[in-house]
Amino acid sequence: MLTDPFGRRIDYLRLSVTDRCNLRCVYCLPAQGVAGSASEELLSDKEIVRLVGVAASLGINKLRVTGGEPLARPGIVNLLGAIAATPGLTDISLSTNGVLLSKLAEDLRRAGLTRVNVSLDTLRAERFPAIARRRGLEVVMRGIRAALDAGFSPVKINVVVMNGINSDEIPDFVSLTHRLPVHVRFIELMPIGETGFFNARRWLPLREIQARCGPLEPLSPAEQPLGFGPAVYFKSPAGLGSVGFISALSCNFCGRCNRLRLTAKGRLLPCLASEAGLNLRESLRAGAGDAEIAALLRQVVAMKPERHQMAPEGGGVRESFMCSLGG
Ligand code: SAM
Repeated sequence: MLTDPFGRRIDYLRLSVTDRCNLRCVYCLPAQGVAGSASEELLSDKEIVRLVGVAASLGINKLRVTGGEPLARPGIVNLLGAIAATPGLTDISLSTNGVLLSKLAEDLRRAGLTRVNVSLDTLRAERFPAIARRRGLEVVMRGIRAALDAGFSPVKINVVVMNGINSDEIPDFVSLTHRLPVHVRFIELMPIGETGFFNARRWLPLREIQARCGPLEPLSPAEQPLGFGPAVYFKSPAGLGSVGFISALSCNFCGRCNRLRLTAKGRLLPCLASEAGLNLRESLRAGAGDAEIAALLRQVVAMKPERHQMAPEGGGVRESFMCSLGG
């Protein structure tokens, strides 16, 4: 079992499988994108599966595959199948922008993926390219339907709320839970990324987001969608799904943090907002045994800070792209 210096049990790994993305969301990447790493710089499938095995032997039982855009990694379905076969893992989920999901949903389900989160910041076709700098609303909506048809449950939709950019769509996203059995999660914008996009005017606090949702009812624990992160859920009276909130700045949830992050290049990070971490790729390629890798994992757990220092005024800005951190 892994326990950090503040007594938090660490049992969740966010695993980035690529630092490339097929969208260029304004809060995440610059318009020209960033140079993705050469394939030999990325962990190979074999290296990923080995690291996941060592992590699982230490008590990591939940894993989320992320990126960059994970579905853009060649061979992602086979990689997920190999990860899913790791003894000790009880939950394997995926974060995607949904662009490639309609083609892959069935195969991902068969490979052993249990849950899918789709990032979607607008329901308006004309606005989608203004936020993602690419067209794609229709194909993402097809992806969400394909995920539901393939039997994924829950399917969550992550909406980063940007004041004055998509904040007028909060009620529309709540209405989406009336039409589809999806779980919409509103995420406070965070001061992460070298885009310079974050500022106090674009940040909408949790209480404002909630006020714009209209009436919401608390959900009993039995009705909560399965998940192991910081979201707090409610239900709109006519909802088939639920409405959740993730507010890193308004309501610091670091006290409940249970996670580590592994970047696509093999750097293990104790916290999204901290510079600390260790490069496991070098050790793997230098022939380290499982016991040595396990010791490195424990070292990173010991580096976990008590809490992040990000603030709405722009304090604690993490100057590194989310797609290379593994968002
Ligand atoms: N491509 C995948 C996706 O779209 O879900 C995985 C990677 S993406 C970086 C992971 C999540 O990070 C997305 O939901 C994205 O909206 C969120 N994200 C990126 N930058 C953010 C920021 N500055 N504040 C809040 N959320 C952010």
